Amino acid sequence: MKVYNIAVLPGDGIGPEVTSEAVKVLRKLSEIDVSFQFETEEFNWNSEYYLRHGSMMPEDGLEQLRDFDAILFGAIGDSRVPDPVTIWELILPIRKNFQQYVNFRPIKLLNGLESPLKKDAPIDFAIIRENSEGEYTNSGGAMFQGEDREMAVQNTVMTRQGVKQITEFAYDYAREHGLSKVTNATKSNAVIHTMNFWDRVVEEIAEENKDIGYEKYYIDALAAYFVQRPESFEVVLASNLFGDILSDLGSAIVGGLGIAPSGNINPSGEFPSMFEAVHGSAPDIAGKGVANPMAQIWSAALMLEHLGRKDLHDTVLAAMEEVLAEKKVLTPDIGGASSTEEVGDAIIGKLKNNGVIE
Ligand code: ATP
Repeated sequence: MKVYNIAVLPGDGIGPEVTSEAVKVLRKLSEIDVSFQFETEEFNWNSEYYLRHGSMMPEDGLEQLRDFDAILFGAIGDSRVPDPVTIWELILPIRKNFQQYVNFRPIKLLNGLESPLKKDAPIDFAIIRENSEGEYTNSGGAMFQGEDREMAVQNTVMTRQGVKQITEFAYDYAREHGLSKVTNATKSNAVIHTMNFWDRVVEEIAEENKDIGYEKYYIDALAAYFVQRPESFEVVLASNLFGDILSDLGSAIVGGLGIAPSGNINPSGEFPSMFEAVHGSAPDIAGKGVANPMAQIWSAALMLEHLGRKDLHDTVLAAMEEVLAEKKVLTPDIGGASSTEEVGDAIIGKLKNNGVIE
């Protein structure tokens, strides 16, 4: 029997609430299909841990995670701990050290959900965001804080290897999924050094992949096209910052943060990849049992696909779509009155019945 070892980091706020529903779904899948099993180990490295120990994870934290098949991550963020600490001491070390240079975010309007754009055409594309360098580096500095001459410099770091590998991933993804076009999100007209370099490397790879179409838009125009004609995109390739912004916009046009999943992927498989909902710890609703667990359950489904079980990914999505289409058990963010747990249970109920798993 195949055993998948999964590290679970529930995190802060609604992170533990939605993650326990995702783990429930995984457990149910392995009850239905006895050919595999999940071994999960929970790591409570969160803001509480930071307040007790002065660090977000133990010194050998990365070592401890290294040999897992994948990581399921909840959400992190707590008003008692500055955001840069949670980001720079937990999320980014995992993403960077485990070379999770792809941030994969599907933007797909599931059956049963209505886009605020009220479009007839299906919205279904992927944002492939560079996840390890670009605008999110700690290169830079600040001086003379509080004085009139105060200044700050933040450097964007783009490397040939970094841009090449994310572009190659986007083209491989397009080809594997039978898609016909990659859209490059850029701003090389204004950000003349790094984005020009980005475009040049992206276009070198585009030349080598002529069987797949290529187009390029400046990020401001592209943001408008996301609203005007989202159905025209298939694979959107973006730098770290642009991808971050576009994917929140993308999630807003297909149901909001309660639904949006993501994967931080190490394509070589040398290190574990990490799957997490796009949303944060949502302190405004934490502890109330009303968080939508679908984003985290979908993230777990992406994890299953990454582990080679696209069949299980499809099973989970089909169950979610059934629950959405029935409109009986939904959390308040998408117009229902049900609890996190009730939605998790409803999805599990559909897993049992949808007959996809023999
Ligand atoms: P971060 O900076 O970590 O992304 P944030 O506070 O900017 O955190 P979120 O925590 O994602 O962003 O919350 C943004 C809004 O979306 C909040 O009003 C929150 O309640 C809502 N929200 C986020 N996730 C969910 C969810 N799973 N279910 C319902 N509402 C959610």
